[in-house]
Amino acid sequence: MQMMALTCPHCAAPLDLPARLHRARCDYCGCQLLLSEGDFVEQRAEQAPPAPVDDRVRSELDQLDREWQAYRRTYLPRDSNGEYFVPDPEQFLHLAWGTGAFSVILVIGLLVMGMPTGAIVTAGLSAAIIFGVNRQRHVGQVYQRSLANYQNERLKLMQAAES
Ligand SMILES: [Zn+2]
Repeated sequence: MQMMALTCPHCAAPLDLPARLHRARCDYCGCQLLLSEGDFVEQRAEQAPPAPVDDRVRSELDQLDREWQAYRRTYLPRDSNGEYFVPDPEQFLHLAWGTGAFSVILVIGLLVMGMPTGAIVTAGLSAAIIFGVNRQRHVGQVYQRSLANYQNERLKLMQAAES
């Protein structure tokens, strides 16, 4: 999935949004966001602005956001439009299975036709493709786990600040 790294204009939380999205909701402050050409054009806050947080919490949040943004930048390189690709683990799992099934049929067919060299080449190529697909899948899994951890940490800080 093509994603964009943006910052909420309302609460300054770093957001991950699908690149072709036009309307979004900030996970952290709940405000409605309108997007155009990768930029926020309008912001409509449905809820009251986030409760003012004290300086200590603010700096902890800033620190956490900075760390997350640095991680995201190194883990998923962005193009010049600020878009990056987040591999969907499910999709890549299907792709690996599909490639495997297809190549088994092809290899059997080549063997039946008396083309063992072709069968070996096909098997080798399929293994390389499946290896690559699994790597992408792993990248997606690690990213999703890291994102969940970061969001948890951030919510915990926000909740601690409110109580
Ligand atoms: Zn927000």
